[in-house]
Amino acid sequence: MNIKNYINGEFVDPVLGNYIDNYNPSNGEVYGQIPNSTSEDVEKAYEAAEKAFPNWSNTTLETRSKILSKIADLIEGKLHLLAEAESKDNGKPISLAKAIDIPRAAANFQFYANAITQFSSEAHESIGLNAVNFTLRQPIGVVGCISPWNLPLYLFTWKIAPAIAAGNCVVAKPSEITPMTAFLLGEICTEAGLPNGVLNIVHGLGTTTGQAIVAHPNITAISFTGGTKTGASIARIAAPMFKKLSLELGGKNPNIIFADCDYDKMLETTVRSSFANQGQICLCGSRIFVEEKIYEKFKKDFIKNVKQLKVGHPSKRNIDIGALVSKEHLEKIESYVEIAEDEGGRILCGGLEVTIPGYENGYYFQPTVIEVTDNSCRVNQEEIFGPIVTIMPFKTDEEALQLANDVKYGLSATLWTNNLNRTMQFSKQLHIGIVWVNTWMLRDLRTPFGGQKASGIGREGGFEALRFFTEPKNICIKYE
Ligand code: NAD
Repeated sequence: MNIKNYINGEFVDPVLGNYIDNYNPSNGEVYGQIPNSTSEDVEKAYEAAEKAFPNWSNTTLETRSKILSKIADLIEGKLHLLAEAESKDNGKPISLAKAIDIPRAAANFQFYANAITQFSSEAHESIGLNAVNFTLRQPIGVVGCISPWNLPLYLFTWKIAPAIAAGNCVVAKPSEITPMTAFLLGEICTEAGLPNGVLNIVHGLGTTTGQAIVAHPNITAISFTGGTKTGASIARIAAPMFKKLSLELGGKNPNIIFADCDYDKMLETTVRSSFANQGQICLCGSRIFVEEKIYEKFKKDFIKNVKQLKVGHPSKRNIDIGALVSKEHLEKIESYVEIAEDEGGRILCGGLEVTIPGYENGYYFQPTVIEVTDNSCRVNQEEIFGPIVTIMPFKTDEEALQLANDVKYGLSATLWTNNLNRTMQFSKQLHIGIVWVNTWMLRDLRTPFGGQKASGIGREGGFEALRFFTEPKNICIKYE
């Protein structure tokens, strides 16, 4: 199936007529083409957005809210279609797309349909000076939203929903590796009555289409989720142009397990937090640190459970792990097994490609557990973003905290303990954006979401995203 750009409410070919192949990771075959848009297409998208802005930014909150709700309803109504498209494009189990990705995309719109009606600004009376200040929170104008391939519609809509709820018009680009559900979203937006030009979706490579959005002089805010290196190159372009930037980047998250935890719950959740979505979630706990007292037991039980995970075609019901997203990604994952071995890591299970009969050219890999002895090794310091986790013992709280923080990333951590003092000490001293205690990836959309250090700048979620997508202006009125 061939995809087109969605500009001004219409599906259009790219101006220069360049296309790139779209692969199905489950069988390695090309199954469609997508535009490789250039700055000409981005300009057209920008013009449509700019034209739509005066009306959309003056549309009542009630109307905006209703349209966003309608988009949410339509996404829910197309659950099966969208989940199938997501699974085919990305390789993730269809069951996962149905249970998580697509419902969450609907929830993103529903959440911001409600949130925008509750968003308010502040007033400050300057007592004794006969003045009153109030803050106007105005939409920015035309904003750029760029998202990655791991949770395609989920993360794409996580940016678009607050951006348009706040009254902005958007030029958005999904990952060129997983463009399909973004393409389908265009149709849904039109059906929901979103005015033409409020959302424009341009497809293409990061270095052509993405860069054209970032470098556009009149797209003055960029919300980006993706790799840390890409984030740095976006910042290099955007910073001298003084653009507002939100960067949600990579992670290398610690999963810290103490002997006093609820063991069975921890074990089950740790299998999930290691390998959900083939380990391709920025929040996966890829460095597992276990208190020495229970290390050998954990190692035995964890490996037993991991070995039971079934790798298979994403459309099959009884599988746990689908295909990796691309051939390049599969090769990257494989290379890290070699790196680990060279560095003295012990492969406790997995480590090999999987061949699925009938889908021999698909990109399948075993869930892999590597035992390491030194946190400074590359498999513990670099984001692998696949079905590979490391395990390592620790003795004391201080050591665990030091290991957890000793990495350039700072996105999330999971802590398993029933000790309240320890919970508070770790929560305060971890250099990261999100701490889960005795759970993983439990999301409340009102909470601030994002990382510290090389995991990014800015926060999404709740009112944080509405603050990002508005410009605060102080008005000071003096009276007599
Ligand atoms: P990526 O950085 O390669 O690409 C992300 C998006 O940016 C894609 O749409 C891509 O086309 C575009 N892009 C690439 N180069 C660009 C450039 N120079 N200018 C503008 N746009 C450009 O990332 P990916 O491989 O798609 O996704 C995986 C990464 O995303 C991992 O590092 C993962 O941790 C991260 N991620 C972070 C979060 C978070 O919330 N922090 C969530 C999901 C994924």
